[in-house]
Amino acid sequence: MNIQGLIDDIVAENNMAPPAGAVADYIPGLETIDPDQFGIAVAMNSGETYSAGHSSINFSIQSISKVFTLALTMALDGDGLWRRVSREPSGTPFNSLVQLEQEHGIPRNPFINSGALVVTDRLLTITGDSQTSLQAFLRQQSANPSIQVNEAIAAAERATGHRNASLAYFLTSYNNLVNPVPQVLNAYFRQCAIAMSCEDLATAGGFLSRGGQGVDGLPVLTADQVRRLNAVLLTCGTYDAAGDFAYRVGLPCKSGVGGGILAVVPGTCTIAVWGPRLGRSGNSSAGVAALAKLTARTGWSIF
Ligand code: GLU
Repeated sequence: MNIQGLIDDIVAENNMAPPAGAVADYIPGLETIDPDQFGIAVAMNSGETYSAGHSSINFSIQSISKVFTLALTMALDGDGLWRRVSREPSGTPFNSLVQLEQEHGIPRNPFINSGALVVTDRLLTITGDSQTSLQAFLRQQSANPSIQVNEAIAAAERATGHRNASLAYFLTSYNNLVNPVPQVLNAYFRQCAIAMSCEDLATAGGFLSRGGQGVDGLPVLTADQVRRLNAVLLTCGTYDAAGDFAYRVGLPCKSGVGGGILAVVPGTCTIAVWGPRLGRSGNSSAGVAALAKLTARTGWSIF
């Protein structure tokens, strides 16, 4: 299969007719990005990587960070987390407060903001500094020691993240947040503000398609844990469009409001795509279109 040819074609098709959508502007700084950039990278389990378009430009990984904090927490804490977070699609916006009250402070899944705050809280308790642990993990797994937080984006989120603050205090009122709210929020905002390229992300996510084996051959997670993490990605990883995503793409995926999407083809490869314009559900329009084309042309799907 000529994967380089396929992704070159997908980038050319995207550039000829870029999908519509609006760049996220609720976090100051994200809206200044050139909206028509588009990149894709494919990291094969066999070791080759392919990339096309703006695949080496850093972007704000935002919610894609939630995959990695969850993986680290599962690695360090086993199943303990699942007493505090469920594993069901939410069917509500990622930052909704309503469901959290109805369900007595237990977030629907680890990929909506309330769930991710609980994961970050747990990782903070275990490591003492969740954000540094996460950054070290990403640097190691992507073999890129320069990965870091975009401090301007982190500061912008701290200044404007009132809804996340509400979620955090709400969780505390249900005793589902252990650490002080400002500390959890700071760790959460900093993890979201990490900047990475498609190439970094596809490589760093490799353990998800290699049955848990990290870049150095050592296990990040067990094969059983990765199977379960991919199941949660498939059902909950793409906001309240997870059903449509499974229908169109058929892969475990996690998206972020920075316009990135990480997709896993278990046993084969990990894919990262990036295009800042978002569709109605908050997923990258160009990213969804590219993944739908790539999976249709390669036959990559878990179904
Ligand atoms: N930092 C963003 C927020 O908490 C992440 C949103 C996302 O990418 O889904 O609002």
